[in-house]
Amino acid sequence: MNDHTTTVSASVIEKIRQAVGPQGVLTAAADLDPYVVDWRGVYRGTTAAVVRPANTAEVAAVMKICAETCTPVVPQGGNTGMCGASIPSAGGGEIVLALARMNRVLEVDPLNNTLTAEAGCVLAAIQQAAADADRLFPLSLGAEGSCQIGGNLSTNAGGINVLRYGNTRDLVLGLEVVLPDGRIWKGLRGLRKDNTGYDLKHLFIGAEGTLGIITAATLKLFPRPAANATAWMAVRDPEAALQLLALMRRHCNDRITAFELISRHSLELVWQHIPGTRDPIGEPHPWYVLTELADAGDESALRADLERALETALNKELVVDAVIAENHTQAQALWHLRESIPEGVRQAPAMVYRHDIAVAVGRIPEFIREAQAALEARFPDVQLICFGHLGDGNLHYNAYLPDRLRSDAAARDAHDVTETVYDIVQQYGGSFSAEHGIGLSKVAELARYKSPVELDLMRTVKHALDPQGLLNPGKVL
Ligand code: FAD
Ligand code: ZN
Repeated sequence: MNDHTTTVSASVIEKIRQAVGPQGVLTAAADLDPYVVDWRGVYRGTTAAVVRPANTAEVAAVMKICAETCTPVVPQGGNTGMCGASIPSAGGGEIVLALARMNRVLEVDPLNNTLTAEAGCVLAAIQQAAADADRLFPLSLGAEGSCQIGGNLSTNAGGINVLRYGNTRDLVLGLEVVLPDGRIWKGLRGLRKDNTGYDLKHLFIGAEGTLGIITAATLKLFPRPAANATAWMAVRDPEAALQLLALMRRHCNDRITAFELISRHSLELVWQHIPGTRDPIGEPHPWYVLTELADAGDESALRADLERALETALNKELVVDAVIAENHTQAQALWHLRESIPEGVRQAPAMVYRHDIAVAVGRIPEFIREAQAALEARFPDVQLICFGHLGDGNLHYNAYLPDRLRSDAAARDAHDVTETVYDIVQQYGGSFSAEHGIGLSKVAELARYKSPVELDLMRTVKHALDPQGLLNPGKVL
């Protein structure tokens, strides 16, 4: 990889300015600031310029200049990523290429059930465009008001509806990508069947901007549910939550779109730090499940089904107390609690060590117990800020150490906490990064836990597509 510690020269920035126009380049320090620090405030880099192209041809022109001048590039979407992947390095040797101006929905095809949008489209705008055509784009996550579809694709984002609709990767039919040398791959096909050789789009999905710049995507749309039902349930422990999931699947099958497990400690951070939030159930319980059903049919029938499932679960003592949302506003308030947890974690005064892990769904309770015991043996005051997508076997298994004040040293010492968790994840055949990616924060884990064969294949792909090492250097590999 090149040494990127020298800053980008004024002549390179001038060439780029000629390609994208003066409104497409930011260089004043105050303008650059939002682009060089990540959402969590953990990573801060520097850059001489943020380039904001208006269309694919401009992205291609910028990449051509960068290839000719050996200028490295950090692609950036909504900058909501959790692993520092969209932040330039401290050396200031890279330009940031921000896709925000490329925010048009290009086409909605209700018969083909597809939507084509530019990469800088905010996720919520895509959801809205689908709804306007009486369709559903099911990707949904707490950052949907600011993350962009290009960032979702590049991180293969998960979110709350994976249980029914899959990850971002499962929602894509075609991509348009600008390659590191400036060539454009026009792969915006809306085909559900196309076995004409290697499926190249999957290389760029989840690549965290290290292989190409995604400039547009053709996405799958689904029928828009006519009815929804939402329940907040208190459960004794994760084992009961797992049995509840099985029971609900028997009663409601694939009408379950979300099934989230939440530890009480996670909610305590929300109640402390997010104004207007409160406990929907009076009595305290150690664990909760938030579930959502969706159906094309009648709302009262769906609700009746949910009530029947809940009654069985109460009789079997899988659920100890529950609230069913009476209307959309109440459902939104329940989801607001769940979606405020990352913000609560961000505002917590002491260190939160974050782990975005996956193991087989059936082994989740055992994993939670074993990892908790291992953490408590080393850190007696640890609290589990554990929440996430039980139905996908994916938990945000965060360890909160109230006595360890936030500091760079505490962040640097993360490995004593994280290795305790990841080594157990590894024994379970799990993943140390289920939906957030590698970025900067998990480069060492990738080297530690991936096999030499996998690492070698990944390096081979990287070198084949980006031989100069221009795209997002230092990230992932
Ligand atoms: P950025 O953060 O800007 O970039 C992410 C990566 O993609 C970087 O490597 C960047 O270089 C690259 N990139 C961005 N755009 C492009 C492009 N056009 N071409 C090539 N590379 C590009 N994630 C989940 O998976 N599930 C969740 O439930 C979830 N909940 C969240 C809740 C909150 C409150 C927050 C703040 C974040 C959450 N996230 C979640 C993480 C984050 O929102 C997702 O990773 C999101 O997909 C990132 O999109 P972005 O546009 O912000 O990308
Ligand atoms: Zn998540």
